[in-house]
Amino acid sequence: MASLILAGSEGGPGIRAAEEVLRAGGSALDAVEAGIRPVEADPAVRSVGLGGSPNLLGGMQCDSAIMEGAGRLSGAVAAVGNCLHVISLARQVMQRLPHVLLAGEGAERFARECGLATEPPLSHEAAKEHVKWLSGLGLDASGVEEPRPLAPLSWPGARPDIARGTTILLVRDGKGRMAGGTSTTGWAWKYPGRLGDSPVIGAGLYVDERYGAAACTHTGEMTIRAGTARLAVALLQQGHSVRDACRLALEDLRSLEGGYLGPVFLHLMSAAGEICVAANDLEGTVARYFAGEVGSVQECVPLRFP
Ligand code: ASP
Repeated sequence: MASLILAGSEGGPGIRAAEEVLRAGGSALDAVEAGIRPVEADPAVRSVGLGGSPNLLGGMQCDSAIMEGAGRLSGAVAAVGNCLHVISLARQVMQRLPHVLLAGEGAERFARECGLATEPPLSHEAAKEHVKWLSGLGLDASGVEEPRPLAPLSWPGARPDIARGTTILLVRDGKGRMAGGTSTTGWAWKYPGRLGDSPVIGAGLYVDERYGAAACTHTGEMTIRAGTARLAVALLQQGHSVRDACRLALEDLRSLEGGYLGPVFLHLMSAAGEICVAANDLEGTVARYFAGEVGSVQECVPLRFP
């Protein structure tokens, strides 16, 4: 069976590493971890790991999840400030703890326990941009200290043109095993403690190798509310094609009311190896993804529904 890779727009720097694992006969799970790590380490990717942006207070908060499609084992970490390779930390949660999701201080302690703790992955560039962002709001760093309410300051960062994005990687290996992973610093200048969908199994990621694998990028606030990745895989289970499953899951997102509504990209790969990537809105977003068999992964353009 051909090994297949589906990576989101941020995933380019990791494709070669994922391919190497698959060429050597490695598992989909190993390929996912290997393929996400170079993206986390690449300062040019402005929404993940080292290139990512901090929250409103200037602190880094990385989110990640990993899931394997045979037993649906999952691990996730959220709001982690001291670890560059959160995809590896998520895998450690899956393999070493009786838990699925660790957040904040506990996840940071676990990073130290696993030997995965690093300096906060805040680049000089991102720190400078944070200062610039605050000054655009008429503030300096002391202006976000308590008791100033941060809620009004969290809205300007919700504009779709503000830096965001998640590296996602969905893989089917030569034995038909499937796995998926996500890693992101989430929205730039988010309210401290805000988690997106990337560490939430069923929202930003879901893999069940009997049917397929799904992952979402952009407005996690919506896919958490709609359980979008889980829904997309459930639609495959019901017999829909990847294209129809994407269309129906995005239609479901369009029925959400209130809250913050924005664009979402849904990435879907069926167990049979069919791929569809589609968005409910392309405005202000980078519209591309990478997909194909090992050795011939191509850059592609997502569909837009409706
Ligand atoms: N979905 C991610 C989040 O909500 C961010 C993104 O992919 O743009 O944190």
